[in-house]
Amino acid sequence: MVKGSPHSKKILERYARGERYSKDALESMRLKRIKHFLARAEIIHGDKFSYPDIDKTFVRAKIEIPIQCSEHGLVFKATPDNHLVFAGGKCPKCGKAAKSRSAKIKYHRQYERWLKESLPEHLSLLSDFVDPNEPVKVLCLIHNREESHKPIYLKNNKLHGCAICAEEAVTSSTKLTVEKVLKDVDLPENLTVLGVEQGEPNKHGHRHTRVICSCDKHGIFKITKGSLKNSNYRCQDCASLEMGYVPQRLGKLVEADELGKPCHLALMKVKVFGVTSLKLGVTTRTLKDRYKDALVEIFTDIMLPERLAYTIEKTLLDKFWEVKDTRIRAIGINKESRWAGDTELFSLNEHEAISFALKQEVVKQKTKFNLVAE
Ligand SMILES: [Zn+2]
Ligand SMILES: [Zn+2]
Ligand SMILES: [Zn+2]
Repeated sequence: MVKGSPHSKKILERYARGERYSKDALESMRLKRIKHFLARAEIIHGDKFSYPDIDKTFVRAKIEIPIQCSEHGLVFKATPDNHLVFAGGKCPKCGKAAKSRSAKIKYHRQYERWLKESLPEHLSLLSDFVDPNEPVKVLCLIHNREESHKPIYLKNNKLHGCAICAEEAVTSSTKLTVEKVLKDVDLPENLTVLGVEQGEPNKHGHRHTRVICSCDKHGIFKITKGSLKNSNYRCQDCASLEMGYVPQRLGKLVEADELGKPCHLALMKVKVFGVTSLKLGVTTRTLKDRYKDALVEIFTDIMLPERLAYTIEKTLLDKFWEVKDTRIRAIGINKESRWAGDTELFSLNEHEAISFALKQEVVKQKTKFNLVAE
């Protein structure tokens, strides 16, 4: 011992040379990093890749190591960091495949955007887009009327997609009733009134009038004129985004600094009202129990504490906002029987992109809560 210092002479000499850690300490840190890296890689890529001699080759996250792709049977070099960030894990062949897939997705996405922006707001697509010349089914939410049209025809002829709407556009009777509503109601900025609908007469012979509105965030909904005038949250989905079960539960967990019960965070193919879609869901029950016959296929299913699962769900909903699938929601509203969970649906074409982002978020959240290692 050196006088006045708790450290041995040997350690002090090492410090003087600028070496903070002993060889043994450095080695045990390196092994820990390898373990960490392998745990993350498994969450993101499953068992697709192997890492020959990783005990010897791994130095730091930014120094390349050899990686073997089981799909292409080739060994390539990449930094551990990049391997976790790229969808193909930096395998040159997987990378190429991912690129051509993403070009297709891009084209599809452009078309979806066009269908979203060019279709009149009161129309909902009832079938999947296949090709510009393949007819799609559209539903007019004002007149509850189904028609089929080729997308290319819808685009070029600026059709209304509904014969009655086309007629009314000429007589402008819809415009008149909408103007009447707007005169009485002060609407928030995110809402637009599209039309007015007369319900079936009840036993007293009264017909109850409903206003058809569109929320910028959630799309079409129907509401009585009275509720439109009085309630704070006219759009139910806007309301549940702020006051529903999930935000309340998440708020409580954060406040109590708890992680909550284990639950499933899953990405699934569902079929509801005959329409298939990509569902992002969180449940403490089993997926089969929660989604019943709507569940067609499970793409990704990860067990996580509630707090992490709800946070990730929220992040993904924000991130993939533009590729949301609102068809099942629109049909449910029209049938007056909505499918619980219809606001977390996405275009099926986005399945790989969302699945990859989901796994990355899982790693991020687990790291934040120290749940990856060991
Ligand atoms: Zn590969
Ligand atoms: Zn119509
Ligand atoms: Zn809304």
